[in-house]
Amino acid sequence: MNSTIPATPELSVIVPAFNEAEGLAAFLAQLFGVLATCSDSYEVWVVDDGSRDATWERLRGELARYPQLHGLRFTRNFGKEAAILAGLRQVRGRAVVVMDSDGQHPPSLLPQMLDLWRSGKAQIVAAQKANRDTDSWLARLNARLFNGLMHTLTGLDLEGASDFRLLDRRVVDTLLAFPEKIRFFRGMTVWTGFTTVPLAFDVAPRIAGSSQWSTAQLMRLAVTAITSYSAKPLSIVFRLGLFGMLAAFLLLLQAVYSWFTHVAVSGWTSMTVVVLFFGSANLLGIGILGAYLAQIFDEIKGRPEFLVGEILPAPAITTQHDI
Ligand code: UDP
Ligand code: MG
Repeated sequence: MNSTIPATPELSVIVPAFNEAEGLAAFLAQLFGVLATCSDSYEVWVVDDGSRDATWERLRGELARYPQLHGLRFTRNFGKEAAILAGLRQVRGRAVVVMDSDGQHPPSLLPQMLDLWRSGKAQIVAAQKANRDTDSWLARLNARLFNGLMHTLTGLDLEGASDFRLLDRRVVDTLLAFPEKIRFFRGMTVWTGFTTVPLAFDVAPRIAGSSQWSTAQLMRLAVTAITSYSAKPLSIVFRLGLFGMLAAFLLLLQAVYSWFTHVAVSGWTSMTVVVLFFGSANLLGIGILGAYLAQIFDEIKGRPEFLVGEILPAPAITTQHDI
């Protein structure tokens, strides 16, 4: 074991954690058990995303056990994307792995990921969910819908994709150079186009607790993901508008014709349907515009993506980019 960590370790592991007090110690034991066998220079950064349970205290307790362990705590819950970003800014490794802290991303995959990277075959090793057995049918359906939509709108294939990834330093530096505030890690790494090798894994059950995502958070993530990768919804609305104008014009012709032929105007029901349809199409269009506007608004405000409350062990040479 190396008690002094070199300035640039071979591997950095970033672990976002939100209310994971119960399973954290077991997860770290698993992780360090594997790390000891596959690399001799590594660091682990647990990013506590404003947990409301004892996650931070547990982490503090684990520090003495593992000299390569670091903790970074947000002032409040900023979301997993922010936690990943904080980790990416903090670590120095030549390869960087992002993985969940609940044990669902098995550390046993790390040696294989490292081998693929060391052999030069991959700049990104993307762990792919081979099954979604641990998800509920609703979560599976949502994932399917979301991935299908993303594929049609952006061309990015995210089926089976997870945030469990190894990135070469070059990929990390590329991602960090992006000026955008709103981020969707999974999509961004696929977007970069660096040589990617997929690696299938079975999603393990959680060590403890339950998934921390609320439906509202997932919906927000989906809207963010779509609006930051594609302007297609806007052009769809535009085409819908064109189609509506054409339909209205044809209806006008028909109305003028029936006025001349003195045939009583019939079909109020269909008229109502048409009015309703285009009324809601308008609202939908405004909603979509709103989503893009909100995105622009958030970007131009230029606020930091997160605020760091505390770093452990207290930093001697680490840099903070957020303040
Ligand atoms: N997580 C986080 N911030 C949040 C929600 C979740 O950092 O606001 C972390 C969580 O601790 C876990 C990972 O993100 O390590 C995945 O979360 P979860 O297990 O709840 O999601 P799922 O496995 O269902 O995708
Ligand atoms: Mg999980």
